[in-house]
Amino acid sequence: MKRYDVVSIFPDMFDALTGYGVTGRGRDKGDYELVVWNPRDFSSDQRRTVDDRPFGGGAGMVMMAEPIVRSIRAAKARQKSCGVGDPKTVALTPAGVPLTQRLAKTLTAMDGLILLAGRYEGIDQRVFDLEVDLEVSVGDYVVSGGELPAMVLLDSLIRLIPGVLNDDKSIVEESHSDGLLEYPQYTRPEVFEGLSVPKVLLSGNHKEIDDWKKKEALEKTKFVRPDLLEAKPG
Ligand code: SAM
Repeated sequence: MKRYDVVSIFPDMFDALTGYGVTGRGRDKGDYELVVWNPRDFSSDQRRTVDDRPFGGGAGMVMMAEPIVRSIRAAKARQKSCGVGDPKTVALTPAGVPLTQRLAKTLTAMDGLILLAGRYEGIDQRVFDLEVDLEVSVGDYVVSGGELPAMVLLDSLIRLIPGVLNDDKSIVEESHSDGLLEYPQYTRPEVFEGLSVPKVLLSGNHKEIDDWKKKEALEKTKFVRPDLLEAKPG
C-alpha cells in the first residue's frame, strides 16, 4: 500500500479525490491511503493562525513556517511508523518543475510521499529550506491554492499503481505514456449525426488497427504538440 500524506488548511477538499471514480476505488481497495494534516492544528495560538504579513512588504499574507514545519514532521513520523524509510516532501508551487508523466512514474515508485499545498501569497522560504525535497508545478498559471494541484499530482500517481485501473493496458496506451498524444477513440453507434467510425476499427484486423492508431497518434501530436516530438529520444 502506498502512503500519502498531505499538508493543507482545507482537508475536506481531498474528499473529491478519495470519494470518486478510479481514485476512490483504489482507496477502498487499500491500494493507497491518504492522511491530511491541517497546519491550524499545529498553530501556537488560540485563534489557530497560520499566516502573517510578509517581511519587506508586498501583497497579501504568507503562510508561517512553524505550523507547516510541524505538520510535515508529524506526517514524516507517521510515514516512518508505517515503514516508509526516507519519506520525501513535495511542495506544489507555480515556481516548481513541471509535472510530466515521466515525473509521475518516478514519484509513484516511492512507497510514500508528503505533499504540501500552499494558500495565500505563498509559504515562508524556511519551510522549503528545512523540509522540502522537490517543488512541482501543474502548469504555467496560478490557481488559488495547492489543493487542486496536489490532487492532480496524486491522481496521476494513483492511477499508475498496479491494479488500480481495471485494465493496466490503459496506462501503456494513453497520452504521454510513449511521448505521443493518444489516437482518437470511438464507441457505439457506428454512425452519429452523419459521422462514421473509421472503417479500419470495424475490420477486426489487429495489425491494421495498430498501424492506424500509431499513425493517428503521430499526426495528432505533430499538429497539437510538435514540441513533444522534438523532445522524444530517437
Ligand atoms: N504568489 C505565488 C507565486 O506567485 O508563485 C502564488 C501563490 S498561489 C495564489 C497559492 C498557492 O497555490 C501556492 O502556494 C501553491 O501551493 C498553489 N499553486 C498555485 N498555482 C500553482 C501551480 N501552477 N502549480 C502548483 N501549485 C500552484
